[in-house]
Amino acid sequence: MAVLTTALDTPLLARAAAGRLLVGGEWREASSGERFAVVDPGNGAVLADVADATVDDGLAAVAAADAAADAWAATAPRERGEVLRRAFDLMTAHRDELARLITLENGKALTEARAEVGYAAEFLRWYSEEAVRADGRATTSPAGGSTILTRMAPVGLSVLVTPWNFPAAMATRKLGPALAAGCATVLKPAAETPLTALALADLLTTAGAPPGVVNVVPTRAAGPVVRAMLADPRARKVSFTGSTQVGQLLLRQAADRVLRVSMELGGNAPFIVLADADLDVAVASALVAKLRNGGQSCVAANRFYVHARVAEEFCARMGAAMARVRTGYGLDDGVEVGAMINERARDKAHGIVVDAVEAGARVVTGGRVIGSSGFFLEPTLLADTPHTARAFREEIFGPVAPVATFTDPDEAVAWANGTDAGLAAFVQSRDLSTALAVADALEAGMVGINRGVVSDPAAPFGGWKHSGLGREGGHEGLLEYLEPKYVAVSW
Ligand code: NAD
Repeated sequence: MAVLTTALDTPLLARAAAGRLLVGGEWREASSGERFAVVDPGNGAVLADVADATVDDGLAAVAAADAAADAWAATAPRERGEVLRRAFDLMTAHRDELARLITLENGKALTEARAEVGYAAEFLRWYSEEAVRADGRATTSPAGGSTILTRMAPVGLSVLVTPWNFPAAMATRKLGPALAAGCATVLKPAAETPLTALALADLLTTAGAPPGVVNVVPTRAAGPVVRAMLADPRARKVSFTGSTQVGQLLLRQAADRVLRVSMELGGNAPFIVLADADLDVAVASALVAKLRNGGQSCVAANRFYVHARVAEEFCARMGAAMARVRTGYGLDDGVEVGAMINERARDKAHGIVVDAVEAGARVVTGGRVIGSSGFFLEPTLLADTPHTARAFREEIFGPVAPVATFTDPDEAVAWANGTDAGLAAFVQSRDLSTALAVADALEAGMVGINRGVVSDPAAPFGGWKHSGLGREGGHEGLLEYLEPKYVAVSW
């Protein structure tokens, strides 16, 4: 297979591009000898090929994690924290290389990839600090005579399944708390972006993660490999980030063995602009909420509900701002929005534009597929979008912003809540008490007020309703990997 090695020319990137599985501290080929191609979505070139883990490889990774689990759980929390802290330092030192790798295999603009590396590394720093905070408690039984001693134990072997849209951050958001809590892990990255996961595992190994504590098994056969790992009695937990559909499948599989689950699933975020919003702030927030990662983010603003009094002005300013955004090959200077992950994703988002226009929406800017190679869609603003359009019913996962207007804020809240998704939501208003009242009424795990980004490693990230179970980030993220043990004590 043609492998373009020139772009992956540093020792760290070359090791990642060697594309081997990490099992029990050894970099190895798949038991089948099969490999699969990783493609640059910005130009369609093959970047590298990667060992294609089989079910046997997945189970070997589970065995390796199991062999390492007890010693890692018994390692002093401070020492586990130090491993994570060193990994944070290494990620920071290798920030530019990792950013280039992310851009190459994911397509996002280099500035965004750099931001992702910083964000991803912060999970390692945060959980290096949280490792020593797996607090239990001791209380007197209300009846007297005994002490309720509550201690926290690692939940055990954790299977981590991550998507392609934030290949570094989605991995560290799971590895950080799992390792801090004392769990051994098997990471199954998305087949579109396995190289970043391999580079991270390389750095974690250098940082001192013992053999078997972090295993990585890229595969084209995600279904069978993950199913086999979850069915293995040694696995105790699955943490998944991805589509609601696959999450539901994994919940069913987890039920058979009553595994602990964390699910970070799809979103469909409303972005509500109230009549008193500061439109400069609203447009700046809307741009980042919509176009970060080219809209391929679970917290991306998906449905814009704008008060009728300011809708025309908002659309004019937002349209002008979106038209100025430079879309192109992620590594090129000045590019702000890169390629979409693949042709299917690009065509789906474009199909949503076509559907909206047929339903009566007006294209303020964008709307076209662009580029002679790679997968690009112009940042697109759609005014007067009917509620029946797919743009308002589906997670767009692309740079498309449909707008509808309202006159009664309660109506906007009802629209916002009228979906099974409940991940993020955004509110714009100069009046904080109004904004907080709207935030209270929204069925979402996260609400951004007068801003377009909610992600923060120190905050509990997660969704309500079909958007998930559990939280990542914050102290809550650590609890997902801990199991309380209550000991009744008399003395
Ligand atoms: P996806 O569900 O197709 O894939 C996610 C992961 O699951 C990948 O590693 C994939 O290989 C694996 N997978 C696919 N089929 C599987 C199966 N049958 N069994 C086990 N694993 C399987 O999702 P995607 O297209 O990679 O990512 C986009 C989705 O992820 C969007 O819906 C987005 O909202 C969601 N997402 C959610 C969050 C969050 O934190 N809530 C974050 C990022 C992305």
